[in-house]
Amino acid sequence: MKLDATDLRYITSDEFRVLTAVEMGSKNHEVVPLSLIVQISGLRNGGVNKLVGSLAKRNLISKVQNAKYDGYRLTYGGYDYLAMRALSKRDSMHSVGNQIGVGKESDIYVVADSEGNEMVLKLHRLGRVSFRAIKEKRDYLGKRKSASWMYMSRLAAQKEWAFMKILHEHDFPVPRPIDQARHTLLMEFIDAYPLRQISEVPHPGKLYSTLMDIIVRFAHAGLIHGDYNEFNILIRRDSGEPVIIDFPQMVSTSHENAEWYFNRDVECIRTFFRRRFRYESTLYPRFKKTMEESSEGPGFQLDVMVEASGFGRKEMKVLEEVSLCSKTARAQPYIYF
Ligand code: ADP
Ligand code: MG
Repeated sequence: MKLDATDLRYITSDEFRVLTAVEMGSKNHEVVPLSLIVQISGLRNGGVNKLVGSLAKRNLISKVQNAKYDGYRLTYGGYDYLAMRALSKRDSMHSVGNQIGVGKESDIYVVADSEGNEMVLKLHRLGRVSFRAIKEKRDYLGKRKSASWMYMSRLAAQKEWAFMKILHEHDFPVPRPIDQARHTLLMEFIDAYPLRQISEVPHPGKLYSTLMDIIVRFAHAGLIHGDYNEFNILIRRDSGEPVIIDFPQMVSTSHENAEWYFNRDVECIRTFFRRRFRYESTLYPRFKKTMEESSEGPGFQLDVMVEASGFGRKEMKVLEEVSLCSKTARAQPYIYF
């Protein structure tokens, strides 16, 4: 999806009021009736009629003809706009550049602050593949069901923000988190290539053990990455050092399937190194042993700290369900074993 940076500047304040009214209305309406938009925005009826037309033309909202009533729905474009506006109001970001990635469930853009410093904006897109599956099965969102894709994408961004912050504070090799709004996350731009694109490294054994050490450090801090593969490991262009990204699926080492997640992360690296660099080692971390030698004690449990920071167990569970569903609903982009 194309982000239109010019829209950031040229929306009128009345259009903004109407757009916000549609967002608020969609918290408990799948399709927000025009009368509710009028009511929330506090603008005149005739005025709102014109404004919804111009917002719909710019794809920030879309008109939906319903069996019961006609109304409007916020689009991803509209949600993107609201998030970017919030970030630019806070002076976190100023302009939008090129798209550099289309992930499984996100879009990645290079953006800049007012001084031209480059950053990365990650827009979460949960629901692009997965939500249809989950909607049919689950009802735990209750009344919020109508706003589900917005809600789930926001949860994913909040979770990623919470983890990235705490990992960065504890000197893990992750991008520096800068700001978070709605379903988006602003972070440091890493001048790097994904490991996936790299055909040769000077010392495969050294990189291999660095990557395994990071898995062990994660586990000693109570965490498992959960998607530790060549797509989510960036290799810095200058130093060749790895930087780990993509945290919405992180799990605690006290999770019931922790060992399985841990082993999968380890296996991903072993398999990749065998195939790509013809490198194999008998040394690799085992879950039980890693947990036994965990020496930091309860004062250094990052999973507990993340929870204390406001991203609770309930939210974690909701996201986990979605990612499980999405894993079965889509074709796997890579093979684990
Ligand atoms: P997804 O959850 O959709 O897989 P990722 O966070 O893994 O999204 O990002 C997708 C791609 O975007 C990465 O493989 C990488 O190429 C690029 N990318 C993400 N974050 C950064 C960053 N901070 N700096 C540079 N490139 C990044
Ligand atoms: Mg990724």
